[in-house]
Amino acid sequence: MYTSDSKNMGRSKTVKVADITFGGEHPVFIAGPCSVENMEILLQIAKEVKNAGAVMLRGGAFKPRTKPSYFQGLGEAGLSILQEAKRLTGLPVATEVTELDMIEKTCAVADLLQIGSRNMYNYPLLREIGRTGKPVLLKRAFSATVEEWIGAAEYIGHDRVIFCERGIRSFDRATRNVLDLASAALVRQMTGLPAVIDPSHATGRRDLIESMCLAAIASGADGLIIESHIDPPSSISDADQTVDIKTLARIIQKSLRIRQTLSDRH
Ligand code: PEP
Ligand code: MN
Repeated sequence: MYTSDSKNMGRSKTVKVADITFGGEHPVFIAGPCSVENMEILLQIAKEVKNAGAVMLRGGAFKPRTKPSYFQGLGEAGLSILQEAKRLTGLPVATEVTELDMIEKTCAVADLLQIGSRNMYNYPLLREIGRTGKPVLLKRAFSATVEEWIGAAEYIGHDRVIFCERGIRSFDRATRNVLDLASAALVRQMTGLPAVIDPSHATGRRDLIESMCLAAIASGADGLIIESHIDPPSSISDADQTVDIKTLARIIQKSLRIRQTLSDRH
């Protein structure tokens, strides 16, 4: 267990997920579609994001959408598709868990359990996923303070937590949200735990993803989670913020160069 007090300042901890280390020397690249759409598309995306340099596959089977009339994800069928993608590519999987009843089935497939921004305050869910001992990707709620975000991690109750900044609400709707790199850096300092950046939900615009990824890496982020698709405009959810595989590959290459340049300076 960690505490968010001054004892943690400057002390960093790593979180291992399958054979990947968050908070180590190398940034971690997680990529894949917003939603698992069908077997054929997910398998193709998984192969291509792997070739592009991603080391973990993302994809939602349970989608907490703004309205119930919107696509809610394939549910358990989506988990089976993720399992198959993992078997074929060897990529570990990050996927969201939204309900207590689905924790066990999601844990059977997920290497990293995602808590979405809408569930950051769902304390019974946080407690229960904490009991599984699985590593957790803890997204920040739209309007959560740093204190509330760290408090949510304390509800999980173990130190295999990776914070994920995904943008906060502001008065200006020109971008979907506002990417708050400073808070991600602060949370890393305060807890010693890794923090990754989700530029996709932070900006809502595919033309801003690359520059925000590079800024995130330059700011010391431990990784990126990027919505990516073989045919972004056809994505069932979050099409406007989804990048193609060529862009993903370029982001990863440039990010690695930035990290190398910065580590050369020390
Ligand atoms: C997602 O990752 O697709 C998602 C729903 O993210 P958030 O919870 O940050 O909105
Ligand atoms: Mn999404």
